[in-house]
Amino acid sequence: MKLVEIFHSIQGEGKYVGVPQIFVRFPNCNLHCRYCDTKFDRAEEISIDEISKILAANRVHSISLTGGEPLLHVDEILELKQKFPNEKFFLETNGSLSNELEKIIDSIDIVSMDFKMPSVINQNLFETHEKFLRIANQKDCYVKIVLSNETTIEEFSMAIDTIARVDPKILLILQPVDPRNGIQPIKSEMIIEFQNRALNFLNDVRIIPQTHKMLRIP
Ligand code: SF4
Repeated sequence: MKLVEIFHSIQGEGKYVGVPQIFVRFPNCNLHCRYCDTKFDRAEEISIDEISKILAANRVHSISLTGGEPLLHVDEILELKQKFPNEKFFLETNGSLSNELEKIIDSIDIVSMDFKMPSVINQNLFETHEKFLRIANQKDCYVKIVLSNETTIEEFSMAIDTIARVDPKILLILQPVDPRNGIQPIKSEMIIEFQNRALNFLNDVRIIPQTHKMLRIP
């Protein structure tokens, strides 16, 4: 399979932070986030038997499909599910490809969806995210918003309205940005302000930074 890498580590972000996983990183992405910290443009032929080897040596919570954007590779995801039918599949996605999600949703157990703010991608994906979230919400699903100094109250409020329209019980993770490419970190008092605003409309809103970076593990 053409992949960037397969490796064993812990989930560093979101609802399942700390669980051991096998990461399958797919190449390419359809978005261009300014804070992107992932190298996903160099793929090579990697045997998926690597997954079997890791499973033989380790107990893992799930197989994380990550990228890039894994939904650009639905055929490969279906092939992986066929080969590893008893493993949990955890999808890390930018939430923009709902038609592709529909094709594989039966093979997925957990969806971690990024809600992209116009201030970091220079486009408005609110309607696209809403459509995506309605499909993802059939499964164990949560949303992650990366907060930077550029996140505006207006776009954040629109994002919260969108999530609440789908289901106020959807867990929201607020993740402070790892500053890069001119993006500035969010002030700590603003993180709390955003959490308070979100809690007016959503039942569960948690602030969780990227823990794998603190631990300096991949
Ligand atoms: S969606 Fe994810 S992988 Fe794609 S550019 Fe944005 S941060 Fe990078």
